[in-house]
Amino acid sequence: MGQLSGKVAIVTGASSGIGYESARLFAREGAKVVAAARRRDALDALIEAVASEGGEAVAVAGDVRDEGLARTLVETAVSRFGGLDIAFNNAGAVGEAATLPELSVSAWRDALDVNLTSAFLGARHQIPAMLARGGGSIIFTSTFVGYTAGFPGMSAYAASKAGLIGLTQVIATEFGAHGIRANALLPGGTDTPMGRAVADTPEARAFIESLHALKRLARPEEIARSALYLASDASTFTTGAALLVDGGVSIQRG
Ligand code: NAP
Repeated sequence: MGQLSGKVAIVTGASSGIGYESARLFAREGAKVVAAARRRDALDALIEAVASEGGEAVAVAGDVRDEGLARTLVETAVSRFGGLDIAFNNAGAVGEAATLPELSVSAWRDALDVNLTSAFLGARHQIPAMLARGGGSIIFTSTFVGYTAGFPGMSAYAASKAGLIGLTQVIATEFGAHGIRANALLPGGTDTPMGRAVADTPEARAFIESLHALKRLARPEEIARSALYLASDASTFTTGAALLVDGGVSIQRG
């Protein structure tokens, strides 16, 4: 029996990278998955991949900045699969890179909308559905950037992702007594389209790899396995945590 047998999970950012691998892994572990992102064609490919592995997933295309998507995802989990147990709020974007005086206000607001307000909107709809089920696991994808390391030019991204940790802690305290756990997952550099866009030259990639004790980027499947830990009953006493899965980037010196 899979680790998520009988569970229903929302995964956002499921068209690519960490979210794609997590949706597949959750489905392989027995969860019914509601997968979201903007790109319908990539989501359709995911649904096919899940079906070919004997799993079940449905796709909802939309933008996580839109509260309507948050509502539809929960409604889909309830109407198609009978309820909601797990929400992996993982969609995110690095946004514009600029030192603070040069960063436009619209770029700042956009990073907060995509990375942080999206999480608030998601949880707002996920929590009542989980309460109806007697509990659940909410996971937000944060990052080590803005938590254990500062990177020039990434103020909006860092602030939005650090904000997720505060949100995580408050949800954990507000709903812990009702069986809802909330945790933030903090990956290190990960070999996804986003990771490759940041490490966009051989020199940049070598530099980013060198920041990690493991001297490499993570594969998205490795981060997916940590998401599975937080989603599953392997982590029933873990809540309010900022879980670093960063290949040692936070402790590496020299
Ligand atoms: P990725 O492969 O580029 O995936 C990003 C996902 O987010 C895509 O599925 C994208 O789908 C979705 N997305 C972005 N903006 C969206 C929006 N407005 N509405 C709906 N979906 C949206 O990157 P990834 O590395 O897997 O990133 C996943 C998460 O990990 C992000 O939150 C990122 O900040 C975090 N993270 C990444 C790294 C890294 O080094 N890669 C490190 C630490 C944390 P569509 O384009 O189809 O909408």
